[in-house]
Amino acid sequence: MPGPDASGAAGRVVLLLGGTAEARVLAARLVEVPGLRVVSSLAGRTGAPVLPVGETRVGGFGGVPGLVAWLRARAATAVVDATHPFAARISANAVAACAEADVPLLRLQRPGWTAVPGDRWYPVDSADEAARVLPGLARRVFLTTGRLETAPYAHLDDLWFLLRSVEPPTGALPRACEVLLSRGPFTVENEIALLRDRRIDAIVTKDSGGALTAAKLTAARELGLPVVLIRRPEVRAPEQVTDTAAAARWVLTGSAAAAGT
Ligand code: NAP
Repeated sequence: MPGPDASGAAGRVVLLLGGTAEARVLAARLVEVPGLRVVSSLAGRTGAPVLPVGETRVGGFGGVPGLVAWLRARAATAVVDATHPFAARISANAVAACAEADVPLLRLQRPGWTAVPGDRWYPVDSADEAARVLPGLARRVFLTTGRLETAPYAHLDDLWFLLRSVEPPTGALPRACEVLLSRGPFTVENEIALLRDRRIDAIVTKDSGGALTAAKLTAARELGLPVVLIRRPEVRAPEQVTDTAAAARWVLTGSAAAAGT
């Protein structure tokens, strides 16, 4: 499917599926474009979200039919899916809804992390698989996969967990668990101090990518600790870029090729 009509921004309506730093950066760029209407969309999961500039809507659309209806009602001319790499359902919904509504879709997704010499990574496909490998690796675990994904580790009674999240966890927790509420970015120095202080011997993280939360990987390397890395779910969008500048060019020029991808 070709990108949005490149004949000027006037009258164009772009839905920007967000909840990430990249989506906020892109919204800030696009609201400056005269005649372009940009609507950022958030799921509404967090109580005090960092809001993008410009027009924002909050809450689910009601699956693929709801998203199709939204796109048609607003005569949307393009969708940029800049959601988190692990927000697989909304990304799959965007692919299906844009195909049905015949609206061009771009996926903006930051690259995953790449191992360098000294890293001890154990890639797994799910939180359940991470929970299966942990008992053979560690006694004291730093869990950084978010407050919503604690249940797979709740039965691991022989392990101690440090769980760091932005908001308090709501699901089942392991019996021995300290909750640390904190929002990144984090420095390598602070991560090393935290790992040492809690005598951590393994880290669990999703392959979120990006610089904001990468310090824990450097800290783990410096301390020689294993990292259980949960691989990304795969959602194939028709066009994809990895940075906000390319996404902005796609919106303005109408093609990922012109956007330099
Ligand atoms: P998800 O599992 O892919 O989506 C679940 C449902 O939430 C979707 O079906 C949709 O509801 C709604 N939804 C998700 N993102 C939305 C958005 N940007 N605008 C409107 N509705 C949205 O999503 P998730 O993993 O729970 O993530 C939710 C949000 O948090 C996303 O915006 C994502 O960018 C952000 N986030 C996620 C993670 C993560 O690790 N998953 C990390 C950081 C930030 P309907 O079907 O009703 O439309």
